[in-house]
Amino acid sequence: MSQTRRRLIAGNWKMNCLRSQAIELASEIIASSSESDNADLLICVPAVHLADMSKLVKDSPLYLGAQDAHWEEKGAFTGEVSAAMLPDYQVSYLLVGHSERREMFADSDERVAKKFAAALKNGLKPILCIGESLEQREQGDTLNVLKNQCQAVIDQVGIEAFANACIAYEPIWAIGTGQTATPAQAQEIHAELRGWLAQMDAKIAQNIQILYGGSMNAANAEELLAQPDIDGGLIGGASLKAEDFLTIYSVAR
Ligand code: PEP
Repeated sequence: MSQTRRRLIAGNWKMNCLRSQAIELASEIIASSSESDNADLLICVPAVHLADMSKLVKDSPLYLGAQDAHWEEKGAFTGEVSAAMLPDYQVSYLLVGHSERREMFADSDERVAKKFAAALKNGLKPILCIGESLEQREQGDTLNVLKNQCQAVIDQVGIEAFANACIAYEPIWAIGTGQTATPAQAQEIHAELRGWLAQMDAKIAQNIQILYGGSMNAANAEELLAQPDIDGGLIGGASLKAEDFLTIYSVAR
């Protein structure tokens, strides 16, 4: 399958950076990045930094994303931010179903699907994060887990909705551990997922960006991104260092 898809290099800052650090990091990234014909660059920042970031990314090649959002437009949901609130801050992507949210904040498949739908309704591109635990991998359950996580969303929004979405395959055992899936392991999963999606809609499967996430860094990005079905990265730790993040972008572009 020829690689015609644009790549996406997405940073997930998680719960990091004080205000001054966030401004410094984003400014550094913007100062050294330029648009590319082949790849886009994105940072997903804590919600409290969106107002500052929205000013910084304006007229820059950097896209802005949020890490989570509630599906309801408004209401009595203390502490939550709705997907409807995000477009006012230049936000164009929304992470949904990150494993940390699934594990620590009770994001069930059903909630993830609602968040995915809310993102689309508000003109945001959802990045659906899926991934298996080490135990599930060892039991040979990886693909079933991933398919079930995707199917829960497809059941709610339909396969057509994936025309405006990305998937991030993030093996849980590789997130923040320094233990990366080998390029061959990741490629195998990406290709199988794409093949499974193709049974529902060949065009969507061909066009959808499937990112790899899990300890991607400046040293291993080249080999991972060389795989034909890996269309970018969702990057945690290495996205907090401008130089490393930009190195990964330069490999992708
Ligand atoms: C992530 O947060 O999605 C992630 C992949 O983190 P890290 O790159 O630190 O493993």
